[in-house]
Amino acid sequence: MDFSPILDSLNDAQRAAVTASAKHVLVLAGAGSGKTRVLVHRIAWLCRDKGIIPYGILAVTFTNKAAAEMRARVEALLGMSSTGMWMGTFHGLSHRLLRSHWQQTGLPQNFQILDSEDQFRVIRRVTKGLGLDEAKWPPRQSQWFINANKDEARRAKDLDSKDGSVDQQLIRIYFAYEEICERTGVVDFAELLLRSVDLFKRNSDLLADYRNRFRHILVDEFQDTNAIQYTWLKLLAGTQVPMFAVGDDDQSIYGWRGARVENIHSFNSDFDPVDTVLLEQNYRSTGTILAAANHLIQHNTGRLGKNLWTHDSVGDPIHLFAAYNEQDEARFVADQLKQWLDQGRKLSETAVLYRSNAQSRVFEEVFFAQQIPYRVYGGLRFFERAEVKNALAYLRLAAHHSNDASFERIVNLPTRGIGQRTLAALREYSRDYAIPLSEATSVLSQSGELNVRASNALKRFLALLQTMAASLEGLSLQEQVENIIKLSGLKAYYEREPGAKAVDRIENLGELVNAAREFNFDPNQFGDMTRLDAFLSNAALEAGEGQGEAWQDCTRLMTLHSAKGLEFPLVIMVGMEEGLFPHSMSTQESGRLEEERRLCYVGITRAREKLILSYAENRRHYGSVKYYPPSRFLREIPEQLLVELRAGVTISPTLIPRQKTVLKPGNESPFKIGQRVEHAGFGEGLVTECEGVGLHARVQVRFERGGSKWLVLEYAKLQPL
Ligand code: ATP
Ligand code: MG
Repeated sequence: MDFSPILDSLNDAQRAAVTASAKHVLVLAGAGSGKTRVLVHRIAWLCRDKGIIPYGILAVTFTNKAAAEMRARVEALLGMSSTGMWMGTFHGLSHRLLRSHWQQTGLPQNFQILDSEDQFRVIRRVTKGLGLDEAKWPPRQSQWFINANKDEARRAKDLDSKDGSVDQQLIRIYFAYEEICERTGVVDFAELLLRSVDLFKRNSDLLADYRNRFRHILVDEFQDTNAIQYTWLKLLAGTQVPMFAVGDDDQSIYGWRGARVENIHSFNSDFDPVDTVLLEQNYRSTGTILAAANHLIQHNTGRLGKNLWTHDSVGDPIHLFAAYNEQDEARFVADQLKQWLDQGRKLSETAVLYRSNAQSRVFEEVFFAQQIPYRVYGGLRFFERAEVKNALAYLRLAAHHSNDASFERIVNLPTRGIGQRTLAALREYSRDYAIPLSEATSVLSQSGELNVRASNALKRFLALLQTMAASLEGLSLQEQVENIIKLSGLKAYYEREPGAKAVDRIENLGELVNAAREFNFDPNQFGDMTRLDAFLSNAALEAGEGQGEAWQDCTRLMTLHSAKGLEFPLVIMVGMEEGLFPHSMSTQESGRLEEERRLCYVGITRAREKLILSYAENRRHYGSVKYYPPSRFLREIPEQLLVELRAGVTISPTLIPRQKTVLKPGNESPFKIGQRVEHAGFGEGLVTECEGVGLHARVQVRFERGGSKWLVLEYAKLQPL
């Protein structure tokens, strides 16, 4: 058998998957069995042992965070940079494609990305423009309709209302929306993929070039690909490029967003011949945690069926806490986190998982009051906060006067006397003459059609845009952002806002300047865009995810959906109540209930050492106190695996036995946080985090060139300085 450092750290089944010689490979395996690890090792193996150049690798994963992690792991294994490899999310990679081939896609060179909030505004405006009543045609519903169709590769022209199955008005809204996006040069998230697919379908030479380029395509989290993503993959693979897909049908949790677990079945016929590899050993969780997950998921029907086992010890029992109410639950969680710290562990090893974003607020309040540092993933993340989006809209508009979505957002914010009537006139003019709103402003402010006050207000606004555009010239990105924030008047505006929120908002604007300062401009990813445009594109793409680098040891607050693929030594799943989880919208339909159960399976299997579940007997919901019974999922976990705790009962430390001797990070690691090190490829840097032991030992290093990277000590060969 073939041995190499890349293969030694794998079990037989994993090694077979990594070195599979079949043309196409499908790795089907449960949580924590090493699917992502196998995918990463296969990339390294292909490059090192099979002579595939990084340029020939295309690897797709689900989140930007997972992609960054994947890149770091490949680099650590290879001990070299992975530049040239196409590694990213479907959206990120499609964006890159469209940037490179904007001419063939019919987009302007500086096309902008419309995030979902901007998309909502445009759809709302379209609805109004068509003279439709918003109450009858809610823009959210139209937005869902448009995106769902795009995800299935259907444009407005492909829809037919004759048989009455699709509403004529929704199709009209879709048409008008497409037209406005086209005219203003913006693309929404779904469009990134759809347009890439169109690009390939229309340009067979270009497609042939990419098929020649990519020698291997690898996909993580395959169970959650939707129709357009699968089409995208099939187009790129053609009949020649080997595909390597890893997934788990039990973790398919995006059915509600069009993901098709059936793609796993289609894979065998679409890509022939396929070698299917099963992995059954779990390396992540204790025996208790795994048993709970296995029992729970057995309540689902129609599974492909697999059972996971582990060599790991039985571990701690799962703790189940019954809180009086949501405040009590949050205080309990805060206590648990403090105990974890008292045991010499780090907060970054912990995560609090919940079903819906709104649940984060109470935890945020309690953690804030108790000074427990935290970061929110999947909620109102930094780039999604209103004040940040307003500042970004100013930046976009300053750089591209034709960006109507940004124009709409800030034209009267802070208020500057441009009222609804003036705006309506601008919109109408822009629609009639098919010109951007800023041009319509220029014409109408001179035309004498508006009253003097309105014309003056518009003239002042145009002058402001010009001053802003001029203030961008020849400056660093940080200075550009600082200037625009200053000129926009946003800071002064928020300073006048009463309450603590204003302080937050102003801090967030400051943080945006920090983000600009720290922005890592990678010409590989952004082609010949300006630094500012790259920053703005990145903000739109990242809005769906985390908050950037954390310098502080903090716990993670996140939805179960965004925890996918991640792992933490301590996981606390909160709000385990009927109606909350499973979500009330899903309890009536068995298909959706099963998806909720898979989500619960995903949550449980994020835990490595310790799992805590909690529910509240009373909970404030929309202002009134509600009683929700404990989640059915709790009953589906065998009783003998659980230890119940109740609110008001002091938890004796003996109830939370620590059965393992915990090796503190850093104890075994030859490196300490703050230490300077040198790497053969990346140069000098500073150790910012250490974690894991033995084969797991890895450190995060912030390199002077090339930013932060996680490196596996085994392979990275770091030299202390
Ligand atoms: P998920 O389904 O949650 O995405 P996964 O199947 O992708 O999980 P990984 O994240 O690749 O699983 O692996 C889970 C954990 O087990 C990781 O910490 C990984 O490093 C570890 N692991 C996997 N295989 C091995 C192995 N052969 N030896 C040691 N550790 C391993
Ligand atoms: Mg994985």
